[in-house]
Amino acid sequence: MIITVKSNADKDQLNEFQSWLTNQDYTLHPSQGANYTLIGVIGDTSALDARLIESLEIVDKVTRIQEPFKKANRKFHPQDTIVDIGGVKIGGGHFAIMAGPCSVETPEQVIECAHAVKAAGATILRGGAFKPRTSPYSFQGMGPSGLELLEAAKKETGLPIVSEVMDPSQLQYFDNVDMLQIGARNMQNFTLLKEVGKLRKPVLLKRGLSATYEEWLMAAEYIMSEGNEQIVLCERGIRTFETKTRNTLDVTAIPMMHELSHLPIIMDPSHAAGMSRMVRPLSLASTGGGADGLMIEVHNDPAKALCDGPQALRPDQFSDLTKDIFAMREIVIKHNLNK
Ligand code: PEP
Ligand code: MN
Repeated sequence: MIITVKSNADKDQLNEFQSWLTNQDYTLHPSQGANYTLIGVIGDTSALDARLIESLEIVDKVTRIQEPFKKANRKFHPQDTIVDIGGVKIGGGHFAIMAGPCSVETPEQVIECAHAVKAAGATILRGGAFKPRTSPYSFQGMGPSGLELLEAAKKETGLPIVSEVMDPSQLQYFDNVDMLQIGARNMQNFTLLKEVGKLRKPVLLKRGLSATYEEWLMAAEYIMSEGNEQIVLCERGIRTFETKTRNTLDVTAIPMMHELSHLPIIMDPSHAAGMSRMVRPLSLASTGGGADGLMIEVHNDPAKALCDGPQALRPDQFSDLTKDIFAMREIVIKHNLNK
């Protein structure tokens, strides 16, 4: 961190400020310029509040050299993290597709979708039992009995399951769930992040609707700082000025996250546009762009879906699509497009 001190800074205040830093075991490298004094602060500055320092009367500007995320940072962990979800690997060259309905609705629906997505090449089954709906009058999910239906589908198909947890009080129902999804709206639910951090279960961390890359990685850092490093990031579209689509898929997040972090990143083309016809181009763009996997909503009867029907693919559409996704993935590998 480099702190630019104002030219007219009060000497006593400056001495006091420097002692405050050295008492925290930082080493200081001051250098006197014509108009400003620069102080280089050496040490782990992630715990320092740059905005607080900037608000001091004697300080002109604070420049961060080191990102505030450490455990998620590729600089300190150059090799890719590989996350194992009940035997299915994501990251470090491993690519996987998670698919299934937005919400678990009936035993037949889940089983039918599970068999269909497995036959099409998905290796993880998704389904929501606790649903974060914008309206309190919309279907809120089946709750614990929905998770039982997912577990039954896991038993029958052998597919590991991923489902969203909205609150720490719900974690008691997730013992047999292979991966915990933190939804976009909960990306900064710090109590929840800390609780899933205490578990030894993979976490799918969706990007908040308006979260910056740094905020997203700081959310991952919350989980990792509690000891759980099995995290897959998921870009699901961000809120922009565009109104035609539900959200805007930020494809730039793929190379940027690969650069900033060692954690795998998958893409969710379903929530991004909110339209089933957009799922195909966005899936192929994401795969071509080097994503470590995809999460796609599939419903056996989208017109009757209780949640997110307009963006769901029918099993036959999904099966058509996965062929092309795998072909695209082969091209990425064959021509080393992911370098
Ligand atoms: C979902 O996966 O069904 C979901 C609610 O996702 P998001 O949190 O990205 O809106
Ligand atoms: Mn959904």
